[in-house]
Amino acid sequence: MGYNKQYIKKALDEILQKGNNAKKIYESRKAEILDKEPRLKEIEQQFMQLGGLLGITALSGNSERLEALQTKFNALVKEQERLKAKVELKDYEPFCSVCSDTGYVGSSLCKCVLKRAKELSFAGLSASMPIAESGFENFNLDYYNGENKTAMEKIFEFAKEYAKNINKNSKSLLFFGQTGLGKTHLSLAIASAALEKGLGVVYSPIQNLIQKLEKEHFSYNSDTPILDDVLECDLLILDDLGTEFSTAYSQATIYNIINSRILTSKPTIISTNLDVEEIALKYNNRVASRLIGSYDIKKFCGSDVRQQKKIQEFKRGRNND
Ligand SMILES: [Zn+2]
Repeated sequence: MGYNKQYIKKALDEILQKGNNAKKIYESRKAEILDKEPRLKEIEQQFMQLGGLLGITALSGNSERLEALQTKFNALVKEQERLKAKVELKDYEPFCSVCSDTGYVGSSLCKCVLKRAKELSFAGLSASMPIAESGFENFNLDYYNGENKTAMEKIFEFAKEYAKNINKNSKSLLFFGQTGLGKTHLSLAIASAALEKGLGVVYSPIQNLIQKLEKEHFSYNSDTPILDDVLECDLLILDDLGTEFSTAYSQATIYNIINSRILTSKPTIISTNLDVEEIALKYNNRVASRLIGSYDIKKFCGSDVRQQKKIQEFKRGRNND
């Protein structure tokens, strides 16, 4: 799995900072409690003295004395436990029990750092994701009429159900239809549900993504963290397929992405103005046949919602004059 070093550093900083802050809060709370229960403080001091004594006595071979000290030690442990329970003082618990929030296990980075670095990396790639405005709750079916409305109601219910059950092996979807019919809106509503479930989501308009991948591909670096993210993320959303500038590179890359994710059973949601025949013409039959064979294809119908909204706002403005 490829990692962008910048995100590793950021993740590590974040985890150390979070751990330090929590530790500080814990220590100050503990100090307050110890002030109220000074016997606990005494016990801690006695433990330190006893620890030293036990070591020396064990070396001296005086077994009678050693036994006496151990009895004392055990009694102190019990007393401490009882007092801690009484004042409700728990031991400090780090966020990550594997690395105790140090970020490292031996000389290797802990899994918690790598996981966070991936999240940051996905979010970086998805920087243009306008997720806040695009929930299921603000998808308005009033903009569709007649047969179109019936068809869109079905798609809406399907998308909600899909989002509810989304997982790392959900089926891939192809949303096609004219501009402004809510394809991106529903893709983002699904993305939002996936993020809430803790899945790693990458969203990008196809043109931006191809530009980034192309830059990475033709740089002198053998690492390809962006391509790795695109292939490995739990849910990939490619917006506006067909609007990218078509080159041999873009054609090969789009096929590679679609095909690789099918082979690893990872869900991809593609939105496009093209129908499958146009996709076959623009790309090739291989791309079209992969989509037909493995994707759930949904046709969006109606008339441009964005345009309808603009007209309504315009009319409202005139009525207010
Ligand atoms: Zn860790």
